[in-house]
Amino acid sequence: MVVKVSTIPNNSRLVTISDRRSHQAAQAQLRTLLSHDALTGLPNGRGFVECLAAAAPVGARRLVLLLDVDRFRRVNAEVGVEIANRLLTEVAGRLRSLPDLQCVARVGADTFGLLWTVADLADANVRVQQAQSVFDAPFATAGLTLPLSARVGGLVSASGDVEVLSRGAGRALAHAPPRGVALFEEDFVPLPTVGSLKLEGELREALARGELRVFYQPQVSLVSGALLGAEALVRWQHPTRGLLAPAQFLPVAQAAGLMPAIDAVVLAAASDQWLAWGAPGRLAVNVCSAWLSSDALLDQIDAALARGLPGPALEIEMTEETLAAPWSAIRARFDALHARGVTTAIDDFGVGFSSLSRLRRLRPTRLKIDRAFVTGLPDDADDLAIADLVVGLGARLGIEVLAEGIERQAQLDALRSLGCVSGQGYLFGRPEPAEVFTRRLPPKA
Ligand code: C2E
Ligand code: MG
Ligand code: MG
Repeated sequence: MVVKVSTIPNNSRLVTISDRRSHQAAQAQLRTLLSHDALTGLPNGRGFVECLAAAAPVGARRLVLLLDVDRFRRVNAEVGVEIANRLLTEVAGRLRSLPDLQCVARVGADTFGLLWTVADLADANVRVQQAQSVFDAPFATAGLTLPLSARVGGLVSASGDVEVLSRGAGRALAHAPPRGVALFEEDFVPLPTVGSLKLEGELREALARGELRVFYQPQVSLVSGALLGAEALVRWQHPTRGLLAPAQFLPVAQAAGLMPAIDAVVLAAASDQWLAWGAPGRLAVNVCSAWLSSDALLDQIDAALARGLPGPALEIEMTEETLAAPWSAIRARFDALHARGVTTAIDDFGVGFSSLSRLRRLRPTRLKIDRAFVTGLPDDADDLAIADLVVGLGARLGIEVLAEGIERQAQLDALRSLGCVSGQGYLFGRPEPAEVFTRRLPPKA
């Protein structure tokens, strides 16, 4: 840079600064400024579009993810702009270190865009999990420790059309619940309203075509941290709408009487997978009340046991409402399961109506404290009292207790000090497809 000072007639001085850098370099710098976000240093929305426009490898499919930090406006209001900015910078830093990324950008105030090349939907699911895992650990800044979460919308597409890619990912994001994911493949088809006959018809076809998937969420010992097993949770890999969560289709299944069929598919797929893994601990499977009382359930369990699944490796989860079935039937069913060594768990314990006398006589193996009572720990006195009560009840009756929905270390500490011995929640792991969960298992000898 050259600075030249010259005196001009009225005794003023004229300063001229000339930059010798080439015109091209200056333009390149301007382009960088225009396509980057000043706060995080990441490409901005314009930069992301440039990434999307860059030619994809021939025949490759790409995953475009949009990740929107949940309730960031509230975070902003509570902690102030300066700390909120630091949090965003930290989110950006964590995202940047994800493996094999082609691009990560800050495309909106609290929205990030990510781009990967993927082989297939399973591969895309692995990337989604990796992106979500960025929020597993809380964010610490300026003496504050804040848990953050995000919803994620993704599009898997072979299209090179920027418009198709960004619109598809945007629509997926609009369908993702807080903390949740909506993953779409190729062209987007809007989700019909729940309860619609169309969705019911599609669900019937999905059962026939094998579109249901099982995800596995780790259950761990709160004492040693060891993996105790997993809960099998259903997902629907819809051909055009992406991966659907239970809340998006179980209400329709329920109304259409399709729950037993879904439970049967999940039990079959999960027990096969569990056998293939060599039964690493217990496999918990959810059953609706109609499937619990069906004889086909016992036949299917017997078939799995005959193929080598140990009885205690299988746990049947049911809600409190299920226990309200006629006494003789429910009693016979518990006896039949326990006689096979199969264990039983009462799911979402505490939110429904439980008959303590039935509980005492049925002796389920486990009570699962509902997430609703874990959320407020350790500060909420009511939640603490209820969690304490359930753990105490379990201890008195000789029923094991597992806490659901543990997301933060402080919740874990509180549950440990109450004497709760096992748990499940995002702190330990989200529900994962088999190809991801398998990495938690010790390598086969
Ligand atoms: P659930 O059996 O109580 O399963 C636990 C749910 O809590 C799962 O939601 C899981 O993803 C979520 N969760 C686990 N840890 C955390 C956490 O730390 N934080 C938060 N916010 N959530 C957590 P998902 O997979 O959406 O399943 C929802 C419900 O759908 C299940 O609740 C269960 O009632 C039902 N469901 C899922 N799969 C099946 C199935 O195969 N058969 C039947 N009958 N019901 C199923
Ligand atoms: Mg459950
Ligand atoms: Mg539950």
